[in-house]
Amino acid sequence: MGTKKEGAKSNSGRKRLLPAIILVVLMAVVLFAVSDVPFVKSARDALMQKLGYEAIDQNGQSGGDDNENTGTENSSDNGSGSNKSSGAQPSEWDISADIDPSSLPEYNGQHYVKVSGGVPAFPDDVYERGGLVKDGDEWKTKGNLFGTVDSNKLAPYEYYGSLDDLGRCTEAYGLLGEETMPQEGQERGDISSVHPSGWAKAQNWERCHLIAWALSAENANPSNLVTGTHYLNYDGMRPLEEEVEHYIWDTGNHVLYYVKPWFSGRELVARGVQMTAWSVEDKGEGISFNVYCFNVTPGAEIDYKTGIVTTEEQAAQDARTYVINTRSGVFHYPTCDGVKEMSEHNKKTVTATRTELTSQGYTPCGACEP
Ligand SMILES: [Zn+2]
Repeated sequence: MGTKKEGAKSNSGRKRLLPAIILVVLMAVVLFAVSDVPFVKSARDALMQKLGYEAIDQNGQSGGDDNENTGTENSSDNGSGSNKSSGAQPSEWDISADIDPSSLPEYNGQHYVKVSGGVPAFPDDVYERGGLVKDGDEWKTKGNLFGTVDSNKLAPYEYYGSLDDLGRCTEAYGLLGEETMPQEGQERGDISSVHPSGWAKAQNWERCHLIAWALSAENANPSNLVTGTHYLNYDGMRPLEEEVEHYIWDTGNHVLYYVKPWFSGRELVARGVQMTAWSVEDKGEGISFNVYCFNVTPGAEIDYKTGIVTTEEQAAQDARTYVINTRSGVFHYPTCDGVKEMSEHNKKTVTATRTELTSQGYTPCGACEP
């Protein structure tokens, strides 16, 4: 009895052998496709590279070769010759997990410096909102294999962080594409109603979009506008924005985009703006940069607490003759009618800059407006 039963068992076992082998092979294939075990993963990456895919690591950096950033390399690779005597100026800024805002890079004559070697890195949320799911160290669209991205499964979006307790912009990011850009014929709206933190009248400040209008169609959004110099807005950020804009128009692809203004302490004007971008479908081949653009005007002095800008010309002009009324503490141009009416013993003629006088507590006359 017993032997017969066992014979039947092994017989039926043989019958099940073929499906079992197929199942094991299938499982091995699936494991090979999704496993994070290093040697499996490296074998997979090698295979995918042979098949024409390029492996990327978590930071979006291309594996294999050091692919050069498009357009961002030349101007950020500064020579070390222009260093100040105070010490070596960093040509790069490495953002670590804990960033000390007092360690923001100092302006070194370049429009921007690379951040973390120029390699884009985003918080997971930035990917996930766009419809990307983690696949080992890579990101892909749901249901796709081997870190591949299906444009149709992406969810383009924009996110604007709330203003902080000082009314300062915090961050803006998104997955940008033709979907987020202005429609054909759409015109720019008026943004003059927004007074970003540190905005000071008549200081030649510009309202500087974190995510450019051409990429986002955002107009008077207070969470997207910072007080910036023409140098930052036009010379620093715009070429990078145009690079992304043209890439999207040319390819129809999508770009992960993260912009963050960096403030020092409680200052109201940002010292600089970090811009990070990475093209998704081609895994950074078209667009890949991570830079910190300086909010400066070369030759001018900026008070980042108040937004007051003193240009070299102004500073020179301001070193001039004023007449102070020592009783009222008001100072005038010597030609002001107020000076003629001033009694002689209150009159004090000085040569000084306007800033010196105001810092000493004197107030400018409301009539001659020195
Ligand atoms: Zn006066």
